Amino acid sequence: MQFKKLSLTHIVIFLCLSVFTFSIYSIAREKDGLLKVYFFNVGQGDAIWIEAPNGNQVLIDGGPDNAVLQRLGETMPFYDKNIDMVVATHSDADHITGLIGVLDRYEVENIVYSNIVRKSSLYDAWQEAVEKEGANIIDPVAGKVIDLGNKVTLTILHPAESLDGVAKEKVNNDSVVLTLKYGETQILLTGDIEAKAERQIILSGADIDADILKVAHHGSKTSTLDEFLYEVSPKVAVIQVGANNRYGHPTQEVLSRLENFGVKLYRTDVDGNIKVTSDGKNYKIERNR
Ligand SMILES: [Zn+2]
Repeated sequence: MQFKKLSLTHIVIFLCLSVFTFSIYSIAREKDGLLKVYFFNVGQGDAIWIEAPNGNQVLIDGGPDNAVLQRLGETMPFYDKNIDMVVATHSDADHITGLIGVLDRYEVENIVYSNIVRKSSLYDAWQEAVEKEGANIIDPVAGKVIDLGNKVTLTILHPAESLDGVAKEKVNNDSVVLTLKYGETQILLTGDIEAKAERQIILSGADIDADILKVAHHGSKTSTLDEFLYEVSPKVAVIQVGANNRYGHPTQEVLSRLENFGVKLYRTDVDGNIKVTSDGKNYKIERNR
């Protein structure tokens, strides 16, 4: 692991100025000045892959099974076994099950997650995988900014305070919410938050204006309020959802709200993997089934 010292790329967290170095493969990665965001089709669950212009890589959630490993295999260079940062928005099965396999297969440098204590075998397996990984752990709290380099930032908007060690079973409203910014392109990533957290975020006064909204909770009717859509004012919405899922996601209520706001909609069950590319001024969206 000596070659890590040669790495040029780094992630800086907020004001702590902690600098984490990555593998030399970061240097070998394509550097075309473009930000790429993939909303992977992993069935009923979320998995979002970010490649910063300098090659830094972030995976947000891992979906309900190991499908994410296949998506990563299709997207990453075959020799790349490092991931700079993994974010678990919350510990429901459709978000962290795949992440356990990711921690097993890849060397992950940083893990962002709220350590909310739950009584479940999945939570135990996740904790075990995190401990085994030995990554730097970042407790998400609104206001922390993760600098991905080349003026690409991930800002944490929610939760408002640390939930480390808090015990609870319903955690949708504690999802880590992030805004990804590159120049004029802003993408809002909302985990599975519901109305309560959407209202909290609006009241916090955070800048949630975005071009692209990852619709919360797979299009559940308890999320994506009109007032939230009004504040975000997205041009494009992405729903990560499995075909014929048993929850009835996305709901007609949310589809109608998005339509009323004139938002262009992409869905992983219909469009497959959805790739957003931005040069910091303009963005384009491609789908590949
Ligand atoms: Zn979910």
